[in-house]
Amino acid sequence: MNKIRKQFPILTRESKLIYFDNGATTLKPKSVIEAEEYYLKTISANPHTNDYQIAYQANEIIAQTRQQTAKFINAASCQEIVFTSGTTFAINQIAQGIKKILKPGDEILTTSLEHSANLLPWIVVAKQVQAKVKTLELNSDGGINLEALKQKITLQTKIVTFAHVSNTFGYENNVLEISKVIRKINPNVIIVVDAAQSVAHTEIDVQKWDIDFLAFSAHKMYGPFGLGILWGKMALLDQLEPLLYGGGMSLTIDENLEDYYLATTPEKFEGGTPNISAIYAFQKSLDFIESISIKEIKSYEKMLKHYFIDQVKQANLQAKIDFYNLDSLSPIVILNVKGINPQDIATFLDLKYHIAARSGSHCARRTVDLINTKVSLRISFAVYNTVEEIDVLIEALKHTDEFLDVLF
Ligand code: PMP
Repeated sequence: MNKIRKQFPILTRESKLIYFDNGATTLKPKSVIEAEEYYLKTISANPHTNDYQIAYQANEIIAQTRQQTAKFINAASCQEIVFTSGTTFAINQIAQGIKKILKPGDEILTTSLEHSANLLPWIVVAKQVQAKVKTLELNSDGGINLEALKQKITLQTKIVTFAHVSNTFGYENNVLEISKVIRKINPNVIIVVDAAQSVAHTEIDVQKWDIDFLAFSAHKMYGPFGLGILWGKMALLDQLEPLLYGGGMSLTIDENLEDYYLATTPEKFEGGTPNISAIYAFQKSLDFIESISIKEIKSYEKMLKHYFIDQVKQANLQAKIDFYNLDSLSPIVILNVKGINPQDIATFLDLKYHIAARSGSHCARRTVDLINTKVSLRISFAVYNTVEEIDVLIEALKHTDEFLDVLF
């Protein structure tokens, strides 16, 4: 464990930090930080040319990162990897790009657990074309209920979109089962998976799953900010309209300024200068994850969650704290200390115990439908967290009634 923690400069600094806000973003290892700096110091070129050596290097980096990313999610081709600014951009790109196939009365199915990034783009597009967004029923384990899904899919269903792992409850969907059910009833449905919360914690295999689009962000996988990935099946990406128009993606513009010809996939989606230093650094975050392996990361984080649950039970914390998802094994916990605003608890944890945890709605505004509260405190673990840190958290949760002493 020390070997892993030592790679994160922020964890080895003098002022203590127990970082439990990994659902929002993970910390970055030295290799990622140094790679971003290396790019800026020694290459620094804008890749939209091959006229000189450092620009050629920049283009090589883009090609290598596409290759490595494709392998990571088992995409059929590196040309199916589109670089965006994040999951949010990727899903907006899918929704707006697909608009032309939607007609009034068409249906988009999703869940009430979605992050706003996988809900708002669909509500917006549905309004634009008079389609409808409908929610799917969930099982008691938080996954999409397959029987109810079967009933909901009709010839009007054009898109089914859902998070692989929810960013509030940490509930995991069985993507393969869901896609099998959908394909059997209506093979033309476009299946979109938001993997922002799962890609650094559990296996992804877009070909095995037989889905159509996947979106995720580098910064939640020990990688740089400002970089996201949109993966799509080649045939669908070819049909998708770009959301951004600009340099690097147009081949020609006719002399009357009436028509244009675009580059092919993936470049046609990457108008403007890419976040090239982040694209380089992202290679190092994939290397970091692969050096441990997703399988190991998953089993370690599961152990942390089990440990947390055991400690909660031993300390009888359920008497004073509402835990909403102790049944989920993903590394996310949401809770409310009875009678205390979660924001006060977050401040208390930070000021007294140096614990970073997040309060609020976690950008998933419809979870209120499930737990009858708009806000909660979210603790989310990652590979560098330890049982000793969880011990501190448990100690802190035992003493939450002292929160006013810290605040005033
Ligand atoms: N979907 C989920 C499930 C998320 O957890 C997040 C980030 N909280 C997003 C989408 C949006 O990611 P980003 O802000 O990096 O675009």
